[in-house]
Amino acid sequence: MFDKILIANRGEIALRVVRAAREMGIRTVAVHSTADADAMHVRMADESVCIGPPPSPQSYLSIPAIISACEITGAQAIHPGYGFLSENANFVQIVEDHDLTFIGPTAEHIRVMGDKITAIETMKALGVPCVPGSDGGVPTLEDARRIASEIGYPVIIKATAGGGGRGMKVAESASQLDTAFGAARSEAKAAFGNDEVYIEKYLTTPRHIEIQVFGDGKGNAVHLGERDCSLQRRHQKVFEEAPGPAIDAKTRADIGKTCAEAVARINYIGAGTIEFLYENGEFYFIEMNTRLQVEHPVTEAIFRQDLVREQIRVAAGLPMSFTQDDLKIDGHAIEVRINAEKLPNFAPSPGKISQYHAPGGLGVRMDSALYDGYSIPPYYDSLIGKLIVHGRDRPEALARLERALGELIVDGVETTIPLFNDLLAEKDILTGAYNIHWLEEWLENNL
Ligand code: ADP
Repeated sequence: MFDKILIANRGEIALRVVRAAREMGIRTVAVHSTADADAMHVRMADESVCIGPPPSPQSYLSIPAIISACEITGAQAIHPGYGFLSENANFVQIVEDHDLTFIGPTAEHIRVMGDKITAIETMKALGVPCVPGSDGGVPTLEDARRIASEIGYPVIIKATAGGGGRGMKVAESASQLDTAFGAARSEAKAAFGNDEVYIEKYLTTPRHIEIQVFGDGKGNAVHLGERDCSLQRRHQKVFEEAPGPAIDAKTRADIGKTCAEAVARINYIGAGTIEFLYENGEFYFIEMNTRLQVEHPVTEAIFRQDLVREQIRVAAGLPMSFTQDDLKIDGHAIEVRINAEKLPNFAPSPGKISQYHAPGGLGVRMDSALYDGYSIPPYYDSLIGKLIVHGRDRPEALARLERALGELIVDGVETTIPLFNDLLAEKDILTGAYNIHWLEEWLENNL
């Protein structure tokens, strides 16, 4: 096992990794920008190294600075968290070239899954169901017109290099195709430096269901059920739950088995998430995320497993500590993402926290790097905390969420807490009757 690992991230996820490492007796190194000198992850880690100025490209995304921090401190492995360098195949290659261990999948798996077209090709070949689509990049508007009319409208044009919901445009009919195609390409070019796009059938009322998989890199893999992340704003998840209210045990076992077998066959190592749209009882693969997800705690709650501990174990060459048979669902879990954002427009709201009080009690987990007097810097993501509740069943989890939200105090900045209080009064949320458009429609009518 490693003696010391470096965490190439900040905020709640850096704390999450420190916690797992500490329970395993592993020392931790935090890295931080000058804007984060007083951040909680720096305080909690055993050591810290300042790696640059506030803008991420010069600090949290600076590969030379992070590798140097490893060499200075003698850290043997790097946990990337999510975001930043977590899905950067080039970074993984450089880490390995320096005889360090990347706590995550191989550069090759990241590369294949990071390009949505090769990801779809790979998943298709592995027997995973995909969305009807263009089978590759669509170079010209003429190709786009032909393919879209073959698939049938509505269609969605998506960036091959896409992520974070950018570079995606819907065309309801042929008359919208030209504009949508042009807009998707220029958005993709601006966001990813790559204007390649592909086309998929646009599913009108799906749920977003994702399967958590985990592999040991030696041909063994398991699944840890699904998460329903359909409640999204601008393709960004805000409320996630496990198990999914629309998924029964047989459906879960079938799609879970397909996913676990697929990743076992490619010798996948570590945590991964296979994302699907789910409509009329059918799954359609959209992408695979080769990292720990923001919403991993709901899965941890219902399976009573520590996914970060498991990531560190397999990266060190140890076997997984559970088999598929060990993994039984216990109860229901919900996560809400607390962002420093001002409603109704969700404008970033950085600033000083005058008072912070985390909720507690049975079945409540608050993953946050906030503390009294902390100043949220304006340079990074607006996620400031994740409130996760676990109950014996969904109604208990919902009641616990309402109770815990009532205890949570974040003063000094605007947050998305009021949104969740409002959502908990909605019948569709209480019954689980929502799809990927529900929240956008609700926001339009209610905020
Ligand atoms: P990104 O990597 O940018 O997050 P995804 O491919 O994961 O992009 O898609 C993000 C979201 O966009 C999905 O959760 C869904 O809400 C919507 N979406 C993507 N593809 C389709 C599709 N074929 N039909 C309908 N909605 C889609």
